[in-house]
Amino acid sequence: MTLKDKTTVTFYNGLTTIGGPMIEVAYNDSHILFDLGEVYRPELGLKLEDEDFETLIKYQLIGDVPDFYDEKVTGKKIDTDRWKHSAAYISHLHLDHSKALNLLDPSIPLYAGPNTAYMLPALNEHGDFLLPAAGHDKTYTRDIIAAEYKKPIEVGEITMEIWPSDHDAYGATGLIVKTPDKKIAFTGDIRLHGYHPDWVHEWLQAAKGSDMFIIEGTGVSWPERKQESSEEFTGPKNENELTEEIIRLQNANPKRQITFNTYPTNVERLLRIISDSPRKVVLHAKRAHLLKQSLNKDFPFYYLPGEAKFDDLKPELEVSYDDLIADDHQYLWQAVANYDQLQEGGLYIHSNAEPLGDFDPAYKPFVEQFAQRGIEYLALRCSGHADEAELKEIISEVQPKLLVPVHTLHPELEENPYGKRILPERGQIVTL
Ligand SMILES: [Zn+2]
Repeated sequence: MTLKDKTTVTFYNGLTTIGGPMIEVAYNDSHILFDLGEVYRPELGLKLEDEDFETLIKYQLIGDVPDFYDEKVTGKKIDTDRWKHSAAYISHLHLDHSKALNLLDPSIPLYAGPNTAYMLPALNEHGDFLLPAAGHDKTYTRDIIAAEYKKPIEVGEITMEIWPSDHDAYGATGLIVKTPDKKIAFTGDIRLHGYHPDWVHEWLQAAKGSDMFIIEGTGVSWPERKQESSEEFTGPKNENELTEEIIRLQNANPKRQITFNTYPTNVERLLRIISDSPRKVVLHAKRAHLLKQSLNKDFPFYYLPGEAKFDDLKPELEVSYDDLIADDHQYLWQAVANYDQLQEGGLYIHSNAEPLGDFDPAYKPFVEQFAQRGIEYLALRCSGHADEAELKEIISEVQPKLLVPVHTLHPELEENPYGKRILPERGQIVTL
């Protein structure tokens, strides 16, 4: 229940988990919801087809949010007498912020930054990315409105502004919400060590003095790791250093096979590697197809033996797999399989690609296969999230009246020297 003539904020999910924030802002007969992701809990062993609405609610993978989900999914009608104006927003395309977007009622507009809006349908082309929409084929992705950055979107008495931000998901954004008497800002996922700290600072300025500042806190989730990481960490400190290291490795190894892989949704890192590399960068056809579908960009590509062809890739850009396997100087290419065919003495750069890390049982055998083959395995990582110091800096730029840390295992580790802080429980309504 929400109060009329007051701004209320209800925290439905994603508070003490990494990901899955679902938060509603309401004022009179207007309300908005952000984000529409699913908490990632691989230990449950659920397959996409097991994830019906009851299961998602039972395991708290999504919030039990009234009056936003499709009636065909919940069996409950939306109260259109109570709510005259509704909209939803997703901050970026990571699954813990987007996977449940097809559950949103088709009559409610969903907004996102343009890159997020264009890439999600391409990522879900095979129906294996998002949860399915009721009454549609699993490859369907509901309409996502590509919002113009910073331009107010009116939802009855509430306005939303979508600002470009920085995270390891291409086109990540932050949100500023204004009701007739309050200003609320939501970071989505955020960092200051990516390619666009200037964009982040600009939106933090716009968020300055917010009545409520909802901030992610992934970077303070593992305080026990702080000590070891500061002592042992020698890798790149930011995205620019990471790209520079990949360039340096090519220059330092003029006669050596060099392959790499990155995460599909970290498009910007890949675009930088392509543009800055002295070698010609060749992508696996599936990745080239994703970039063609979502950005309409063409890059050199290859097929593994026997793979089906994509009809949107330009044949003149194809490089033969045999040429790549035999090459030791011309190409930097994306290796995704058949690692046993790579050259002994070569270098493979694993840059936040899958398997992502030690927590995945597939990681150790993946790494070991390179050593067995005499190939150097190099993990070059850069986090998508602000660390403790960056979170402090972000909070100091906004100086909020009320701070609400979410999306973290330890919300109590984020403090607000400029005002109050609350650590809401799931389902808690905060009246501003
Ligand atoms: Zn994210």
